[in-house]
Amino acid sequence: MKTIEKYGRQAWVIGSPISHTLSPPIHNAAFEAAGLRHRYFAMEVEPEDLGTFLTTFKQVNGLGANLTLPLKETVRDFVERETEAVERTGAANTLYWADNDELALDNTDVYGFCKLVEDHEDRIRDRPVLLLGAGGAARACLLGLEHLGVGEVRLWNRTTEKAERLADRFSAVSIDVLSEEQLESDEEATLVVNATSLGLEAGDPSPFPADVIEEGMVGVDLIYGRETQFQQDFERHGAGAVDGLTMLVRQAARAWERWVGESPDVAAMESAVREADSDQ
Ligand code: NAP
Repeated sequence: MKTIEKYGRQAWVIGSPISHTLSPPIHNAAFEAAGLRHRYFAMEVEPEDLGTFLTTFKQVNGLGANLTLPLKETVRDFVERETEAVERTGAANTLYWADNDELALDNTDVYGFCKLVEDHEDRIRDRPVLLLGAGGAARACLLGLEHLGVGEVRLWNRTTEKAERLADRFSAVSIDVLSEEQLESDEEATLVVNATSLGLEAGDPSPFPADVIEEGMVGVDLIYGRETQFQQDFERHGAGAVDGLTMLVRQAARAWERWVGESPDVAAMESAVREADSDQ
């Protein structure tokens, strides 16, 4: 039997800056669809205020929280219990109550990324995946690719040393670090993932050379809310392009499950985010 709480609890997304976040409409839509009175808010929190936030969170018995930049790594200094996804990626985006009323951390971007690319499993299994970027999102993608059983990854990053450090860390997958020249001549990968932040700003170029794109390739962009040059290039060359909205919704759904203990209405989450996105 579903428990309807008389008084709702509160959940937050915290970070800085936070004004651009689409997380409140996503989570609030799922609470409403489930008939729950919980409410989800965005709050600006700087790293030096994280301890105070966590103390207050415990005092008010918060339902849960999401963490975004610049708190995803810092939060690990405050909370000891964490999932394998946090240990392996070194970053957390979800705070939740685990058994024994202990606070714990998860990185639900890993699950969100798996849901984003699961429709392309045939490409992932048989051919190498080309991953662009070596930041926090790229680490979540690499662990996701490992979970999906991908054999081979080509990894490119503007700062090559960072890509090399990542390759050492994810040794269960065979990772070739590509130079800029190798990126321009790589013809084997049919799934290309943009996990760089290039495309966040209007006028940003694509990190991937358009003349390498061929029909039958798919470009998966983690960026959502705008059509990036990366997405446009894949579409223009008759190849498929996918944006990061599904990943955003699915990482939120996994966090919601951690807090509520049941699955949310993902369709309600998705339509809320599309509406909020078109209003921005
Ligand atoms: P991050 O840790 O700051 O890493 C940024 C990455 O972008 C690094 O690899 C960096 O390369 C690269 N980069 C930045 N500027 C560049 C430029 N001018 N040219 C080439 N590469 C550049 O950020 P993150 O957390 O990994 O996030 C990356 C992107 O993923 C963001 O756009 C974020 O919004 C998106 N994201 C989406 C979701 C979702 O749910 N859809 C989830 C997480 C993240 P260097 O190492 O050389 O600096």
